[in-house]
Amino acid sequence: MIAGGVAAGMSAASRALRQNPEADVVVFERGEYISYGACGLPYVLGGDVDSFGDLIARTPAQMRARGIGVRLRHEVTGVDARARTITVVDHHSGRSTHEPYDKLLIATGVSAIRPDWAKTDLGGVHVLRDIPDGQAIEATISGGAKRAVIVGGGYIGLELAETLHCRGLSVVVVEKGPEVAGRMLDGEYQVRVRAELESNGVEIRCGTTVEGLTGKGDCVTGVQTDHGLIRADMVIVAVGVRPNVELARAAGARIGKTGAVAVNTRQETGVDGVYSAGDNTESTHRVTRRKVHIPLGLTANRMGRVAGVNMAGGDATFPGVVGSSIFKTFALGAARTGLTQTEADALGLNAASVDVSSTDHAGYYSTAKPIYVRLTAERGTGRLLGAQLVCQNHESVKRVDVVAALLHGRGKVQDLFETDLSYAPPFSGVWDVLLVAADRLS
Ligand code: FAD
Repeated sequence: MIAGGVAAGMSAASRALRQNPEADVVVFERGEYISYGACGLPYVLGGDVDSFGDLIARTPAQMRARGIGVRLRHEVTGVDARARTITVVDHHSGRSTHEPYDKLLIATGVSAIRPDWAKTDLGGVHVLRDIPDGQAIEATISGGAKRAVIVGGGYIGLELAETLHCRGLSVVVVEKGPEVAGRMLDGEYQVRVRAELESNGVEIRCGTTVEGLTGKGDCVTGVQTDHGLIRADMVIVAVGVRPNVELARAAGARIGKTGAVAVNTRQETGVDGVYSAGDNTESTHRVTRRKVHIPLGLTANRMGRVAGVNMAGGDATFPGVVGSSIFKTFALGAARTGLTQTEADALGLNAASVDVSSTDHAGYYSTAKPIYVRLTAERGTGRLLGAQLVCQNHESVKRVDVVAALLHGRGKVQDLFETDLSYAPPFSGVWDVLLVAADRLS
């Protein structure tokens, strides 16, 4: 039995069935959609993807044809781990049933945090987590919204800033912290992200705290902050997420210090027969060996796959994460892996960084743009700790994956310098910016 039918849940379902074709696999999803790419939601709103339907990898009918039971609008509300039963509420009929299981996967994801001021019925106030949220945002845009305030300067807020600006709205990003992209990049790199947004006409107000919303009738009209009122007919609340751990807690599973469900490398919670995977679950950071909660798409799919194999009698382990993430806003791509210098300092590591600016393609090539790289390593040992990249050819920051691969093997700066990277002028200089950074840091 699987609670939650998106990345982790459906990966697990598919893998379990592949592992054991005789397995009786049933997925309960409280929403109306399964198996879709939530990461694509901003791009449907922006027009790079034609429709919300295009995000759906497999429909319930396709899943059923493969032998996976899918129950939409069925919410798992309780677990009796001793009796090995779950309580399921069918939101179509309102009826509640008890279903037996041999193995249970909790893949319930996260919920968008809604501060008290955002708990409102005012129209035009949104979060973005799933397809219905995306459809609601689309309805507000199509309904003629002109002024948007995005609360939260994380990657989802910044992706949406581009989207809404390109849809013709004036956009203000309100961020409580001193800069945007604060949890992802070091200060100098945050500034480059802000510059990209501002040069495209997005207003950024950092160091600003939202205190409430104003409304007229049933529509939002503004965002009240500690620095005054900002008029708005659309508000996106993108201030972070909270893991959905209630079900795991009800099953008797341990919740880690990160706030997400604690598991071993087989995705087992420690409660017999109960597994957890995806955004609701913590993982181990391979650089720091600490438990972390970094809710991202590949992690969720991979955890689900591991859980599915193990639930069906196989043996798979989750290798951990190195904290890689990447996003685009307007032309700019920003990426990081491992630790930033700020994070390394906070952990008390003896870390040093080098900053290199170069061009992403050969300097003489027509499409070349400046690229900025920070490479961080441990002093003395030369062990790589992390990298950050920013470039106005957004695809160019994908070279962060070279460092991610080395971090997985606890590689050193010298290993990076000696790596035989591909080269041709439309892709990089002969000495790629990563090699230049490694040379300077070694
Ligand atoms: P979810 O996708 O949250 O699915 C959990 C499901 O469980 C939900 O459908 C929920 O309805 C259901 N559920 C919850 N409780 C119950 C219950 N009790 N009973 C039954 N069902 C239940 N990640 C990246 O790596 N790169 C990106 O660029 C990126 N962009 C993103 C952009 C947006 C706008 C969003 C919202 C997310 C983005 N992510 C990105 C994150 C990525 O989408 C998630 O990591 C991934 O969807 C997590 O999958 P999951 O299965 O763990 O959880």
